[in-house]
Amino acid sequence: EKSRWNKFSGEPAVTSDGKKFDIFGNIGSPDDVEKVLERGGEGIGLFRSEFLYLSSKILPDEEKQYDAYKKVLEKMDGRPVIVRTLDIGGDKDVPALRLAKEANPFLGLRALRLCRRKEDVFHTQLRALLRASIYGNLKIMFPMISSMEELIWAKEKLRQCQEELQEEQVPFKEKIEIGIMVEIPAVAVMAECFAGECDFFSIGTNDLSQYSLAVDRGNETVADLYTYYHPAVIRLIKMAIDGAHKNNIMCGMCGEAAGDPKMIPLLMGMGLDEYSMAAASIPEVKEWIGKLNTEKCKELVEQILRLSTAKEIEEMLRKFYIQNK
Ligand code: PEP
Ligand code: MG
Repeated sequence: EKSRWNKFSGEPAVTSDGKKFDIFGNIGSPDDVEKVLERGGEGIGLFRSEFLYLSSKILPDEEKQYDAYKKVLEKMDGRPVIVRTLDIGGDKDVPALRLAKEANPFLGLRALRLCRRKEDVFHTQLRALLRASIYGNLKIMFPMISSMEELIWAKEKLRQCQEELQEEQVPFKEKIEIGIMVEIPAVAVMAECFAGECDFFSIGTNDLSQYSLAVDRGNETVADLYTYYHPAVIRLIKMAIDGAHKNNIMCGMCGEAAGDPKMIPLLMGMGLDEYSMAAASIPEVKEWIGKLNTEKCKELVEQILRLSTAKEIEEMLRKFYIQNK
């Protein structure tokens, strides 16, 4: 099994008609980088930066965060690394912040919303990120964006941190790409507008499914209703990609769907540029992409968009996979 991984993991993901796609890995801590590189990941499409906060009773200071980001950037040796700023709240509690209990935490004070209330926490993270930026190809991504005001605010905070470091004569990279997670339906609907204010999108299908279908992603009792094969979720994904491309920015995906072999031909047909997934999925996905033809994938999109249920969509994608793998 290992030798099979290695055969495809070392090669770029190129379709049978010669189109190359970026296959990246998702990580939750610096220790996960090796797995991504071993399996052939060409970048980090999502570094969930929560780990430092969840594992400790006190908030991680600037130095501790700086060390973690620097470690990842150095290990990735110039390859792209997308670090997502703090995404806590929701189901992820941080004892050190002593947050109030909420009746609907997934609809509450989560991620960037929380950072707006706790500006010092955000400020510390942005400074650590900027200082680490000189060690590689860092991109910064904001989670749970739901309005333009939030994006503008986050960019302004980043600019303030840059000015501060400049005054202190602390080095940082001048040009850092800024992106957002597209994981709230409102942003997918307004994608064109958001794409005008950032350098890339990454679609988070885990939350995009949860929020567009009103199904708690962690609730067993409604797990049967939770699916990214739903035609509405598929359309929201398409809107995000189209909005990005109209503004000539890159659109990736870091939710579970990006590593699902059944979804990949559909995503490719819709023009998704970058696929970020758990390290374990990378070799299989690279092998599968080698068998795909982008024109055939575009035809698949046409067919899928005619269907009205998740069941029919999953079935058609399953057939396509069986027939072409
Ligand atoms: C997502 O929502 O799809 C995502 C990738 O982020 P998380 O699973 O960390 O919420
Ligand atoms: Mg999410």
